[in-house]
Amino acid sequence: MRAMVLERHQQPLVLTRDRDVPTAPDGRSGGLVLNVTACGVCHSDLHVADGDFGAPPPIVLGHEITGVDPNLGPVMVYAPWGCGNCRQCSEGEEMICSDSMEAGLFTNGGYADQVWVPNARYLEPLDGLDPFAAAPLACGGLTAYRAVLHGVERLRQLGSGGRALVIGAGGLGQYAIGFLRLLTDATVTAMDRSPDKRTTAVSLGAADAVEQPVEGQLFDVVIDFVGVDATVQAATRHVAKRGVVAVVGLGGGTTPFGFGAVPLETTFVASVWGTRGQMTELLDLARKESSLLLPVEVMPLIQAQSAHDRLRSGEARGRLVLDVATGNESDSRNGGHNQ
Ligand SMILES: [Zn+2]
Ligand SMILES: [Zn+2]
Repeated sequence: MRAMVLERHQQPLVLTRDRDVPTAPDGRSGGLVLNVTACGVCHSDLHVADGDFGAPPPIVLGHEITGVDPNLGPVMVYAPWGCGNCRQCSEGEEMICSDSMEAGLFTNGGYADQVWVPNARYLEPLDGLDPFAAAPLACGGLTAYRAVLHGVERLRQLGSGGRALVIGAGGLGQYAIGFLRLLTDATVTAMDRSPDKRTTAVSLGAADAVEQPVEGQLFDVVIDFVGVDATVQAATRHVAKRGVVAVVGLGGGTTPFGFGAVPLETTFVASVWGTRGQMTELLDLARKESSLLLPVEVMPLIQAQSAHDRLRSGEARGRLVLDVATGNESDSRNGGHNQ
């Protein structure tokens, strides 16, 4: 089968045309092999390629996978596979299992014609959703959905008086604006340095988009998709009492915590990915509300490295999705799937 392989950290991905069909990793057995239709390119793929986290190479990246299962038809893969035995797994929170082995991070992922999946329970039927437009929901969409859910209860208490701040209006922030608009009556403000992204945020339903909120402006829920010192500290400065701060971005930033350092009764959460149950809910929501499927740019599988380069340079406007199934190896970037 074809695969784009990370052979060494910080080196370009390498096209391999005769790679063996994937099998269960060491210590595991069973599972199934799925034919991949599409695979989204996520910022965390860049971290894996750089060697910041994930398994040592060689490894096939890609964790936003759609494919076709002989029994279920078109499916999305839930990629953070837990051990199945620990407390987190028994509560359905497999993405925080200490022994989880995410596809494309710790085992081979979806930048390939086929991917190994440990169990059919990790396949979520697409039921009519476009496999290219939906692919980024597997991580980008699900991660934003869970982050928004941390603040939904507080915003619903406040009704139309609720105020939400979304920091970072790239892919995940754009999903979050859609979820906030759909699930709450809150007024949503987006914060981003890029004028382009601020314009996009407003077009998606943010009431306002700013480079920085004004001094003293407070929000009941702040979701930080950047996560560097400056943004987590801005989140702390601009959250209201009894507010919620959810940090999602892997920027490694920190903020002092304790009495006097944060507003009273504020909740802070480092939010990661989402549960299988939340993926089911999310796909249901996307079927009802097609505006949640953001525009994607489709590129052939063999251009995975160029997709990484575009993402790294900030050139990519929407989420990038690799076309694995059609065998399209031409240079055309859009592949007819732009939404
Ligand atoms: Zn576990
Ligand atoms: Zn991801």
